[in-house]
Amino acid sequence: MLVRLMYASRAVPAVDQEALLAILRQCKTRNPEHGITGVLCFSDGIFLQVLEGGRTAVNALYNRIVADARHTQVELMSYAEIGERRFAGWSMGQVNMARLNRALLLKYSATPTLDPFSVSGEVSLALFEELVATAAIVGQS
Ligand code: FAD
Repeated sequence: MLVRLMYASRAVPAVDQEALLAILRQCKTRNPEHGITGVLCFSDGIFLQVLEGGRTAVNALYNRIVADARHTQVELMSYAEIGERRFAGWSMGQVNMARLNRALLLKYSATPTLDPFSVSGEVSLALFEELVATAAIVGQS
């Protein structure tokens, strides 16, 4: 039973580039053994992450992530049983913000900033899919 979960959260002020790299290292070390794949986006102090994998593994990871002191206001945006993964290529891919076209953000929201709290989960997922299609994801499985 595969599921896809997406949430958004706000980073605490202490989260800088180094802290982000530490989180990504944790993802890349731990996710393969649990069969988790996905993509993490960090922009303007907001995290948006998609997790895919077995239901038990994804639910357990989400519970750990919610309790993580490096962010607050963790909000579940979307949760679905799925037939196949969309982000199978990454133990945790990272959106390359340097390649993020602001026009793409405008396509999906009122302002050219990443603000998943103001759009539907469906819209954020569509944005992720375009990022994958336009190769704006870095990091390997
Ligand atoms: P421990 O390693 O025992 O850590 C306990 C607590 O200490 C954590 O909850 C956290 O608050 C804090 N902590 C842990 N490491 C650090 C550090 N390097 N710097 C500062 N504080 C720290 N983990 C995954 O395995 N896969 C993911 O895909 C994933 N995505 C994440 C996305 C975000 C936005 C964040 C903030 C965290 C993510 N994590 C991820 C990390 C996850 O929240 C847990 O810290 C990790 O899974 C270890 O869990 P644990 O119970 O063994 O906690």
